Amino acid sequence: MRTEAEMTLLRQNRELKKLGIWNWSLPAFAGKLPDGRNYNTCPSAGVCAQACYARNGTYLFPQVKARHQKNLTLVLDDLPGWKSAMLEELSRNKFDDAWVRIHDSGDFFSRSYLTAWLEVMHERPRTRFYAYTKEVAMFRKLVEPSPPRNFWWVYSYGGTQDHSLDPDVDRVADVFADEAAIDEAGWHSQSESDLRAVIGPAPVGIPANNITHFKARQAGRRWSDWQASVDAARAQRRARARDTTSPGTTSTQPR
Ligand code: SF4
Repeated sequence: MRTEAEMTLLRQNRELKKLGIWNWSLPAFAGKLPDGRNYNTCPSAGVCAQACYARNGTYLFPQVKARHQKNLTLVLDDLPGWKSAMLEELSRNKFDDAWVRIHDSGDFFSRSYLTAWLEVMHERPRTRFYAYTKEVAMFRKLVEPSPPRNFWWVYSYGGTQDHSLDPDVDRVADVFADEAAIDEAGWHSQSESDLRAVIGPAPVGIPANNITHFKARQAGRRWSDWQASVDAARAQRRARARDTTSPGTTSTQPR
């Protein structure tokens, strides 16, 4: 027989427990489920996938990975069933006035999944929900016009939709090399509490995790700058490819 903890959808890791935050997790980014299905829970991930804390350390422990994959399987195989189970769990008194972080790994990977979460939020108004997301276009369409009153979110840089963010209008978060770099840029660190990402001063700075190979890849840059340089290089490659295949250029000109 399974214990209550094993049946629970929402968890608290050590860090979030100190802050009274509950957490819903999916496996980060792309992978394969035990039944052979491929998935990508972060379809708009960009450079972040190369320095993703949730693709490192404890997240790779077999039991942790299995739990996150089981969560994803529940969502993929029976979204209405997952929604009912989530609503049932959130009806417990302990979630009144509590915070739920949607995804300490993974993102809103489809319209139907995001819609299911929005319905959960509407039906559990006494719980407060928050999320980081890179799904800018989907939020513009499905969330921004009429957000649930108990939902806070922040757009995080390092994704393929960075170019559509406007820090003067959108609430945004960026990963910096360290706290000094956040200060120097005049952004506001969320280190003291993860909730500052959504209810503290903005724009929001996050110091990079102290993971040597990730820091080496980041090379002291902000994720927004890192992503912008990747986007620029890609645009240049596309332009070169267009030039070499367009009519009238020496390489394709009929002789
Ligand atoms: S979106 Fe978040 S969880 Fe997904 S790869 Fe990027 S940093 Fe990791």
